[in-house]
Amino acid sequence: MDLELTAEERAFRDEVRAFLGQALPPELAAAGRRNTSVFCEPVYSLPWQRILHAKGWVAPSWPREYGGPGWSEMQRAIFAAECAAAGAPPLAPMGLRMVGPCIIGCGTDEQKARYLPRILSGEDYWCQGYSEPGAGSDLASLQLRAEQDGDDYVLTGSKIWTTHAHHANRMFCLVRTRFEGKPQAGITFLLLDMATPGITVKPIITLAGEHEVNQVFFDAVRVPKSGRVGAENEGWTVAKYLLEFERGGGSAPGLKIAMDRIAANAADEGLDDDPHYRRRLAEARIHLQAVDMTERRVLSALASGQKPGPASSMLKMVGTETMQTVDQLALEAAGLYGAVDQPAARAPGANVEPVGPERSLIAMARYLNDRAASIYGGSNEIQRDIMARVVLGL
Ligand SMILES: Cc1cc2nc3c(=O)[nH]c(=O)nc-3n(C[C@H](O)[C@H](O)[C@H](O)COP(=O)(O)OP(=O)(O)OC[C@H]3O[C@@H](n4cnc5c(N)ncnc54)[C@H](O)[C@@H]3O)c2cc1C
Repeated sequence: MDLELTAEERAFRDEVRAFLGQALPPELAAAGRRNTSVFCEPVYSLPWQRILHAKGWVAPSWPREYGGPGWSEMQRAIFAAECAAAGAPPLAPMGLRMVGPCIIGCGTDEQKARYLPRILSGEDYWCQGYSEPGAGSDLASLQLRAEQDGDDYVLTGSKIWTTHAHHANRMFCLVRTRFEGKPQAGITFLLLDMATPGITVKPIITLAGEHEVNQVFFDAVRVPKSGRVGAENEGWTVAKYLLEFERGGGSAPGLKIAMDRIAANAADEGLDDDPHYRRRLAEARIHLQAVDMTERRVLSALASGQKPGPASSMLKMVGTETMQTVDQLALEAAGLYGAVDQPAARAPGANVEPVGPERSLIAMARYLNDRAASIYGGSNEIQRDIMARVVLGL
């Protein structure tokens, strides 16, 4: 892979940079820089999504026929790096990077026409209903019951750890339509409206004191069969297809920016003289290079209509572990104030002055939130197992 920018790519970078300089409102950039999670509150991400949509740049890896910009792999990497450097708020991945590509690959023409434009515009905000109490790593044991009744399924049970369910108006979820036989062969993939009577969303507050995840309860919830993706009892294949996109990465550009910031902060804290710290920083940079290259390969596979395959498991593992190392280094470089949580000062637009340097403001919340990165999207132990079986044939 030739990583030197050609003259056209440099021109593209300048075009993106100029656009960001003119179109990214300062308050959204401030919110992006102070974001403490891989997810950003929709009050910041959605206005930015609408701006990108108007420009035609909202779904860099979608095929052009569905609204993608038709960029090369290098152009997508340049765009992601420039967005991260400008502090653009990250867009919610559940629509654009998860269910969208899944509908493109597995949905009917009606589903594509109905859902894809609303994913691009941000009119629909999606959440993912896979995990249940008792069905996380062993996802195939899920129990949310869906019984047929005329043109509907009637859902009873619950989903847990549902990120941003309290913001979402749509959910893609896995339900059980057959209880006997192999568990994988009784699962169906459904798209549903979160405003349907019988759905209750209850918050779960994370270690960082934030409301990002929820438990969602279903009490006789009617979902039209037209919301089914793939055939009844064949949802497992659709679910796995989608998971490859979920694990497909996109974190390297943001981590690179964070790494540069950490190196500067480390100097302020006198850590640049510490050989142990410097060695760990250098190791993290090397891992990050590997993540970056693999992410580009996966994005390239997606753009040419291929499935990323088990490379996405490798990426999920190495990407999240590198992210956690970066957080650890950032926390040390934040100095003593890194241990102080200041949610009031962190809120964009807040009038509360932070105590200590700006860099210490998000370090601890980011560190705590990202502990979950090696659990969500399928735990890293499970990814290692997939690699061992599928890639190494063990
Ligand atoms: C912040 C956060 C956000 C999330 N968002 C969503 C979401 O939006 N939608 C959604 O559907 N889910 C979501 N999840 C759920 C996530 O996918 C699950 O937490 C994850 O799959 C692990 O399942 P579990 O929590 O039930 O843990 P368990 O499956 O009970 O695992 C517990 C521990 O045992 C290990 N383990 C289990 N089985 C094996 C095995 N066979 N071999 C080796 N080790 C094993 C696991 O690695 C883990 O360390 C989220 C989770 C978190 C923490």
